Amino acid sequence: MRWSFTVGRVGETVVRIHITMVLLLAWYAWGGWRLAGLRGAVDQLLFIVLLFVSVLLHEFGHIYAARHYKIGTPDVLLTPIGGIARIARMPDVPRHELVIALAGPVVTLLIALGLAAAITIGGGSTALAPTGWTDVSTWVALLWVNVILLLFNLLPAFPMDGGRVLRALLAGRIGMVRGTRIAARIGQAIAIGFAIIGLQYNPMLLLIAAFVFLGAEAELESVQTRALAGDLTAERLTVTDVRILTPDVRLEDALRLLTRSDQRAFPVLDADGVLLGLLTRDDFLRGISEAGMDAPVTVAMVPSAVSGTIPLGMGFEEAVARLFEGGRDALPVVAADGRFVGLMTRDNVTDVLLVQRLRRELAARSSR
Ligand SMILES: [Zn+2]
Repeated sequence: MRWSFTVGRVGETVVRIHITMVLLLAWYAWGGWRLAGLRGAVDQLLFIVLLFVSVLLHEFGHIYAARHYKIGTPDVLLTPIGGIARIARMPDVPRHELVIALAGPVVTLLIALGLAAAITIGGGSTALAPTGWTDVSTWVALLWVNVILLLFNLLPAFPMDGGRVLRALLAGRIGMVRGTRIAARIGQAIAIGFAIIGLQYNPMLLLIAAFVFLGAEAELESVQTRALAGDLTAERLTVTDVRILTPDVRLEDALRLLTRSDQRAFPVLDADGVLLGLLTRDDFLRGISEAGMDAPVTVAMVPSAVSGTIPLGMGFEEAVARLFEGGRDALPVVAADGRFVGLMTRDNVTDVLLVQRLRRELAARSSR
């Protein structure tokens, strides 16, 4: 994450602070200084630090719930508009998402109740509801900010926790994609409401409205994409109808095959059907220029131990990443017992992805 720095680590989770937080602290301290000198500056700093400790505890509510379901939580970032706990993957079970989404607000509720109890014990029940905001104690202000945070977070709008709660409840009944679509649209309706109120009373609400509206759209996009890619596996992207070379074939004969067919990469298998390596177009040309036409294909091929292979059961995204990061035009796909199954080629993957995108656009159009 750019413009942020690490302040510590809790278990596996790195705690980072966005650089604008420092500006915010300085700004509050300056405001306090102008009001009441050093004492005012310290009070304001204390308040803002305590507020962000509250936000951090809220985020760790989500983090511990996610860890409970064995989901990684690499980091949490504190920004002036709140905390963002990164969850490595979305839970597959709606009930897990429900628990993770609720864990944050539950922590905030506990903080508010704890503060209310402490303030009541310290100064009587009247201390909870001050008559004016000019001389509110730091603790009372912290209590009310936490109550506002709690209510705001429970709005049924992405990307707030309430939006996730709503989606989890819907997804259990009507499925992830439809549940997300309904939750996102409700969130966007609320955002438009914010914007209308913001235009009249508070421009800050306009910013929040834009944040909520775009957050809802992004969530819907990512869920739809994952749903369409979800049924794709490395297996479905494997071309099995491929011509195979034996190790004794000369480059000259292989070249004839290459020029006569559409196939761009040729696996080399020994007499027992064990995969030795793969020859792409580039390998042919390099092999011929270095070793001549009479050399066997094994001279030019890249052994599968070097290029890597794709296991048949590998997930779609991981397989595509391995293919494109490896820089080869194709990679052999192998079964669990090492048997050669077919090829995954860039051309084929690009075609399939194109079709998937068209399908997604058509689905989005028909759902409007
Ligand atoms: Zn939260």
